[in-house]
Amino acid sequence: MDIALYQGGASAVEGVADVVKLSSNENPFGPSPRASDAFRQSAGELHVYPSTQHERLREAIGEVYDMAPEQIICGVGSDEIISFLCYAYAGPGDEVLHTEHGFAMYRISALAAGATPVSVHEADRVTDVDALLAGCTDKTRLVFIANPNNPTGTMIPDAEIERLADGLPENCLLVLDGAYAEYVEGYDAGVSIINTRDNVFMTRTFSKIYGLGGLRIGWGYGPQDIIDTLNRLRGPFNLSGPALKAAHAAVRDVGYTARCRAENAKWRAWLAAELDKIGVPSDPAFGNFILARFSSEAEAQGCDAYLKSKGLIVRMVGSYNLPHCLRITIGDERACRRVAAAITEFKRQG
Ligand SMILES: *Cc1c(COP(=O)(O)O)cnc(C)c1O
Repeated sequence: MDIALYQGGASAVEGVADVVKLSSNENPFGPSPRASDAFRQSAGELHVYPSTQHERLREAIGEVYDMAPEQIICGVGSDEIISFLCYAYAGPGDEVLHTEHGFAMYRISALAAGATPVSVHEADRVTDVDALLAGCTDKTRLVFIANPNNPTGTMIPDAEIERLADGLPENCLLVLDGAYAEYVEGYDAGVSIINTRDNVFMTRTFSKIYGLGGLRIGWGYGPQDIIDTLNRLRGPFNLSGPALKAAHAAVRDVGYTARCRAENAKWRAWLAAELDKIGVPSDPAFGNFILARFSSEAEAQGCDAYLKSKGLIVRMVGSYNLPHCLRITIGDERACRRVAAAITEFKRQG
């Protein structure tokens, strides 16, 4: 009962039609049409048990991301990989580090494994490597950072990740959560860092740029001994056949992924600039959302309520210790224009 229940993004407003959900960082365009087709085609095979080793999906991921397929493990969302890591490497008496405004699942999974989550200070909403290194003790087993981070949207350069990996005590694993890595043009999410070390692991997801949050698919990549360990915790049929088929088609449609990345970058920059003009700043954002800062908690709450009344659902992030901020997913052009117009009107009304 010490675990605070995860709060998902809201999706409906009573009495308001034309609602846009911008609270869960979903892809406004949905998955690649090829992924939807693959899912529909799998309807005729629902009586067949799925693959246990996920070879086809791991090979496709390996090809697209230049990863060795045998060093990949697929899970029910990256959430499942995060929980495998905690169950495998942290238990009672062990500490699991996460950043001050880090993703809620690190803390939840650490507690579920009986370990002690430790929150480490960030420098103005940016991961602080010195603080993380200083936060390590001989009890630290796992250090989770998301790069780009959610809900801040900020990221740190590879050189900083390397400094963190190389400065960690022995018997401590660095986990890079790359849920938003595809939104960063040309970013390998730390693959080359992992390939030259034995203490760095990565989690990835099909829930964000691939638009398959509803199917629950993610993966982990890292040193072989860690993959071999996590596979012992994994249920043999953790991923359904339709999910595997859809993910396979999605990851191979690299053209679609590139178009989603470009569209997101364009409207993210536009929305951030529009809000900045009216006194609502945000940090340079690297994912598919921005963290809009208001002058007070009351103003953020007022704006959230105003947006809701206009059918625009964004995310309050008080539970992430950012009560004066709203996290806004980058929707399509129409959604971004609606958000900018509504916040402008809210500010004008004072
Ligand atoms: C959305 C998100 C995930 C994805 O979780 P899934 O279980 O793969 O849907 C992971 N990490 C972070 C930081 C996220 O924001």
